[in-house]
Amino acid sequence: MLHLQKLKTNNMKSKFFIAIAISSLMFVSCADDKKDDQKKPETDEVVTDDFKYQIDQFADLKILRYQIPSWNDLSLDEQKLVYYLTQAGLSGRDIMWAQNYRHNLTIREALENVYTTYDGDKESEDWKNFEVYLKRVWFSNGIHHHYSTAKLKPDFSADYLKNLLTATNTTLEGEAFDVIFNDKDSKKVNLSKDADIVLESAINFYGPDVTTADVENYYGAIEVDEEEPIEVGLNTKLVKENGQLVEKVYKSGGLYGAAIDKIVYWLEKAKGVAEDENQEKALGLLIEYYKTGSLDTWDDYAVAWVNSTEGDIDWINGFIEVYNDPKGYKGSYETIVEIKDFDMSKKMAVLSKEAQWFEDNSPLMPEHKKKEVKGVSYKTVIVAGEAGDASPSTPIGVNLPNNNWIRQKHGSKSVSLGNIIHSYASAGGSGRLQEFANDEEEIALEKKYGQLADKLHTALHEVVGHASGQINPGVGTPKETLKSYKSTIEEGRADLFGLYYLMDPKLQELGLVEDWEATGKAAYDGYIRNGLVTQLVRLELGDDVEESHMRNRQWVSAWAFEKGAPDGVIEKVTRDGKTYYDIKDYAKLREIFGMLLKETQRITSEGDYEAAMALVEDYGVKVDQALHKEVLDRNRKFKAAPYGGFVNPVIVPDMNEAGEITGFTIKQPETFEEQMLNYSKEYSFLTN
Ligand SMILES: [Zn+2]
Repeated sequence: MLHLQKLKTNNMKSKFFIAIAISSLMFVSCADDKKDDQKKPETDEVVTDDFKYQIDQFADLKILRYQIPSWNDLSLDEQKLVYYLTQAGLSGRDIMWAQNYRHNLTIREALENVYTTYDGDKESEDWKNFEVYLKRVWFSNGIHHHYSTAKLKPDFSADYLKNLLTATNTTLEGEAFDVIFNDKDSKKVNLSKDADIVLESAINFYGPDVTTADVENYYGAIEVDEEEPIEVGLNTKLVKENGQLVEKVYKSGGLYGAAIDKIVYWLEKAKGVAEDENQEKALGLLIEYYKTGSLDTWDDYAVAWVNSTEGDIDWINGFIEVYNDPKGYKGSYETIVEIKDFDMSKKMAVLSKEAQWFEDNSPLMPEHKKKEVKGVSYKTVIVAGEAGDASPSTPIGVNLPNNNWIRQKHGSKSVSLGNIIHSYASAGGSGRLQEFANDEEEIALEKKYGQLADKLHTALHEVVGHASGQINPGVGTPKETLKSYKSTIEEGRADLFGLYYLMDPKLQELGLVEDWEATGKAAYDGYIRNGLVTQLVRLELGDDVEESHMRNRQWVSAWAFEKGAPDGVIEKVTRDGKTYYDIKDYAKLREIFGMLLKETQRITSEGDYEAAMALVEDYGVKVDQALHKEVLDRNRKFKAAPYGGFVNPVIVPDMNEAGEITGFTIKQPETFEEQMLNYSKEYSFLTN
C-alpha cells in the first residue's frame, strides 16, 4: 500500500497515473499570493526550504518547480547519463503535441510567433487573455484541457487574433485557425456512450475518417501470441488510404521520425555511460525499438528494463500510457528520468534492519506481535526531468511496464516521485501554515523539522508499520473480517505505529534525527493540525469523510483528542472566531497513540468488525459543520488552483576547451513562458 502522509493521496492501485494523481492532489496545496511573485536572480541551484516552489498561477492551473537533491551524490558519468536521458526525453516533446491533435503544432508555432514578436498594446484585457490562453495550451500540450480533454475556450475574439496575426506577419489559416473558436473537435477523448468514440475524439491516433468499427475490425483481426501478447497498435497511427486501413509506425524514417532520430542520438550517448550491463542492454533495445518500431523488441526492452535494478539512475521512455486513446491501443509519448533517493533509501534500510526491535518494543499485546518481522520495501526516487505526457502535468508515482504478461513473468517497478510530491506539499508556502498553526513555536518547528518528520513518518508507516502485527490463529484476513473498514483500519494502524515511534529517542540513536524531541513535536503538531482541521479543505460543506486515509487521520486525531481531554493533552483554542488545536503534553499524547495502536492491532488480530465500525463511524466520518465552514472560509484566501504542473530544472553542461563535459550547472527557470519558449526553440523537430 503506497501513500503519502500529508498529501492524502488516495486509491492508489497498481498504477497511479496523472489523472488520479492530480485529482487526489487537487486541494492539497494552495497558491502563493501573486503579489509576492517577485523575480529572483538566476542562481545555481541550492536545495533549501526557502526554495520558491510556485512560480505562476492562471486559469485553473499553477506552475511549480522542483529541486534535484540527489544531484551532488552522483558521479560525473551518472550526471552525464541523467543529462543525456533528459535530452532524449525533450527531443520527443513535439510528438505528444502531434499525438494530442493534428493542428496543435501549427497553432503553437503561430501563437508563439505572435507572443514573441508583437509590439502593440500589452496592457489590454485581450492581450492578457491571449497570454493566458497560450499558457493553457502549453500546459496541455495542445488546445484540449489536459484533464477534462475539453477544448480550451479563448477569452478573446477571432477578430482580435486576426489582428495579432496580421500585426506580426504570422500565418494561421483554415481549419487550424477556425478550430480555436468553433465547436469542431470539442473533445480530445470523447467516451460518451452515444458517440462513435474514435470518430468523435479529436486525438490524433486515428485518421480523421476512421471509425470505432474500423478500429475494432482492424485490431480484432490481428493474431497475437496468447502467452506473451504484444501491445498491438501501441506505436502507430491508423489511417485510411484509398479506402484501406494502414498503420503509420512511429520510428526512424516513419511517422515522427525526425524527432525519434534525435531521441536515438541522445539514447546512444546515454548507452555510452550506462552504469552497468543491464542498463546498457536495456538502452540498446530501446534504441533498436525506435529504429524499427518492432513491438516484439519493445517487449524485449521492457523485460530488460524491469531486470535493470542495480543502477542509481532509471528512466521511463516510450509510448506508454493508453488512456488518451478512446479504444486503449495507442501509447502517448512520455519520459521521466529518475535518480535514487539516497537519503530516503538509507533511512528505510536502517528501519528495515531494526524492524524486529520496533516490533518487540511496540505497545502491542504480546500475542499480536510478529515473532519474525521483515521490513516492507518501498521505493521513492528523485525526478531529474520529465517530458511529453508526463510534463508539465505529472504523475506522482509510476508502476510499469503495462504489458501484463511481463508483469506476471518478470515483475514490475513501482516508484513514488519524492521531490515532485514534496513540491506539491510545499507549494502553499508559509501562508497556510500561518493561518492554521496555533502559535509561532508550532510554525518554527514545522519549518525546521516538518519535512524530515514527514519523511520519517512515511518511512516508519511503510517499512515497519505495515509489516507489523499478526492475525490470531483461525481468524480470517482483515478483508474478510473488517470488510469495508479494512483499508482505513490498516492505514490508521500503520500511521499509529509511525506516530508512536516518532517521539522515541531510538530514532536519534539510529542516526535518523538530530533532535528526536523537536522532530517528534513537529510530527505530532502536523498530524493533529491536518487530522482535525486542514484536511477539511478537501471536502465540500455537508459531505462526510469517505476516503480511507482521510478517515483514518480523522479518527486517530479525534480519538486522541477525546481520550486526552481529561488531562488537557490537546487543547482546543478559539481566538478571533478561529479554531486551533494546541498540544500541551507530547509525552502523554505518545501514550495515547500507543493505546490506540494496541487497540487497532487487537481489532485487526481478532477481526473485531463491531469495534472497527464503532471507531471509524464515531470518530472518522462525521464532520463538525461549524468548524468545517470556518475552515473553508479561512482557506478561501489562498486561491488554490485545482491542477498543478511543473517546469523542469535546466541541466547545463560545463565544457572545457576540448569540448568535453567537466560538470553541470543546474538552473531553475524563472517563468513558465521562458521554459516553454526555450523548449520550442531547442526541440521543435516536427515543425518547419
Ligand atoms: Zn499505508
